[in-house]
Amino acid sequence: MIILPKVRGFICTTAHPSGCFENVLQQINYVKAQQGLSGSGRVLVVGASTGYGLASRISAAFGCQASTIGVSFEKAAKGKRTASAGWYNTAAFEQQAHKDGLYAKSLNGDAFSSEIKQQVIDLIKADWGQVDMVIYSLASPRRTDPTSGETYSSVLKPIGESYHNKTIDPFTSVVSEVTIDSATEQEVADTVTVMGGEDWQMWIDALRDNDLLADGFKTTAYSYIGPGLTHPIYKDGAIGMAKRHVQQTADNLNMQLSDINGSAYCAVNKAVVTQSSAAIPVVPLYIAILFKVMHELELHEDCIEQMYRLFQDYLCVATPSLDDERRIRLDDKEMQEDVQRGVEVSWQEVSSSNIESLANLEEYKDKFLQLFGFGLASVDYTVEVDPAVSIPSIPDEA
Ligand code: NAD
Repeated sequence: MIILPKVRGFICTTAHPSGCFENVLQQINYVKAQQGLSGSGRVLVVGASTGYGLASRISAAFGCQASTIGVSFEKAAKGKRTASAGWYNTAAFEQQAHKDGLYAKSLNGDAFSSEIKQQVIDLIKADWGQVDMVIYSLASPRRTDPTSGETYSSVLKPIGESYHNKTIDPFTSVVSEVTIDSATEQEVADTVTVMGGEDWQMWIDALRDNDLLADGFKTTAYSYIGPGLTHPIYKDGAIGMAKRHVQQTADNLNMQLSDINGSAYCAVNKAVVTQSSAAIPVVPLYIAILFKVMHELELHEDCIEQMYRLFQDYLCVATPSLDDERRIRLDDKEMQEDVQRGVEVSWQEVSSSNIESLANLEEYKDKFLQLFGFGLASVDYTVEVDPAVSIPSIPDEA
């Protein structure tokens, strides 16, 4: 069938298999063009199908020749409904990894559940014996607690007082003002339950209880800080509390892993267009301005450049350089003074009438559509494609 984008608010409900394949291939080619890395043998990526998790898996596999297991929660195609982008990405990743003789298996299901953890444990026992690294890159709006069965939802809200700022609808180019009410105490607590470090800790505990952590084991989860203008909704908001919990978890895990010479890190990444960041009010406008400023200063980076740098400069070295709160700072270029000064000036002035000159809105839209495999120059979208694509290591549903 012919597959076209169907954008609804901040999501696209269709995805293109050939476009997603091309996206993955471009990231693989980027990594292959860099210097080869050493030292991360068997890598489990939780949240491996899109965004930072996918880029991490690609960097580990094609940069370090690592064997990878990827866990994600994606949808296969059904009838005329396309699969989700992450499904196609995973299929493309596995095909390319296998072509290069790399071990790559994937599990599709709820990473918060005990069942998926058990399946991964069984797979590691059967195929690897132990694991050298776990990258934890989940972004989810809800989480069902595996013990109580209760489902919690996260919110993107400020704490204490409401937040008022500019925002954009990228597909109408209209810059408007938005006011977001503050989160209740319960909403903050629930956001920490969903996006904090509890599940990360549960993964590491489950692997450790089964004696699956190799000597020198490393684990990393991702965070974001961003500029003052987004602090009320991000760093100091409900999601920021969850990220503080991720950082505390990194510190706790780091101590707990000392007996196996292990380490745990929280990496602060830069703002990029992903399915998750598109859902945060204000942030897409900030990213569109950031694109322009960082391109002008020749500092632009996307997920793959960031994740390659994570492996090259931090995970593949014995003693990585951390900030004074023991964090990996991949947002160093985003937070540079000249970048933030440039963003701040444009932010004050930006409106619907000057958006095209102050921000790279077209680039934002292109990147957003590319997440779903659309708008790639090398793909002919007038050609019929079969939406049903198999992931080599996942049995087709009957
Ligand atoms: P994303 O939406 O692109 O990816 C989320 C991944 O999680 C996907 O692989 C998805 O399948 C998986 N997932 C979601 N729920 C799941 C579940 N229940 N079980 C199994 N898998 C599940 O998100 P992203 O933007 O790459 O975010 C990844 C991490 O990076 C998050 O911690 C996020 O806060 C952080 N981060 C993102 C940005 C940004 O600008 N996007 C910046 C800094 C840090």
